[in-house]
Amino acid sequence: MKAVDTHCHLQMPQFDEDREEVIARALDALQWLVVIGDGIDGSQAACALCRPGIHASVGFHPYRATSFDEKAREKLIELASQPGVVALGEMGLDYYNEFSPRADQRRCFEEQLTLAAELAMPVVIHCRDADEDTGAVLRDHLPRLPGCIMHCFGGSPDFAEYCLSLGCYISFAGNVTFPKAEKLRDAARITPPERLLAETDAPYLAPQSYRGKRCEPAHVISTLAFLAELKDIPAEELIARTSRNAAEVYGLS
Ligand SMILES: [Zn+2]
Ligand SMILES: [Zn+2]
Repeated sequence: MKAVDTHCHLQMPQFDEDREEVIARALDALQWLVVIGDGIDGSQAACALCRPGIHASVGFHPYRATSFDEKAREKLIELASQPGVVALGEMGLDYYNEFSPRADQRRCFEEQLTLAAELAMPVVIHCRDADEDTGAVLRDHLPRLPGCIMHCFGGSPDFAEYCLSLGCYISFAGNVTFPKAEKLRDAARITPPERLLAETDAPYLAPQSYRGKRCEPAHVISTLAFLAELKDIPAEELIARTSRNAAEVYGLS
């Protein structure tokens, strides 16, 4: 079974010059991937890339929370019904880059979670330096949602444990391979294989073997090989398991 990239941003300008070549390499190496929206334009562009093997998620990133108004909400509902759209997000809280005030972030996050419950769609969560508040919001909303991915997990092992107790999947990106990321590796160690996912978050966070270069979806294989070794599971087995998990949470199984 081939690997899946559960989270990338192929619509971003970093891929403008060679997008179709990157996609060809991705679809050759992987089973499928999900292009994640970060606002209305980015979500629309993600939808436009859908084809066999490419799905989309539409949502509003906390960076842009202040501009999430009624018009944006309606547009998001419209985009969510496009063919190929499998989830809502990324959405969440980012207190590291506080580009929108916290109150706006929280409102934007909760409104999207409510929408996801109404539409019965899984969600893709972005959380940076906001573990406590994200956990509290998710605790209230998750019982009504069909699935939840903690994308590019960056929290403590305790927070991983908490997210797992809520029923979330935990997705690790290339930064789990960085030499100083011991805390992240501890979180990956305690995540059971049946709740584990891998992603690239391309064009960001290329795994150590490609560090400093632009990341692309095919690089998820390098992160998966690293996780397999970390968890002492044969790579083929971990790839098959994480691809099944991805299909389950995105409703593609
Ligand atoms: Zn993110
Ligand atoms: Zn992302």
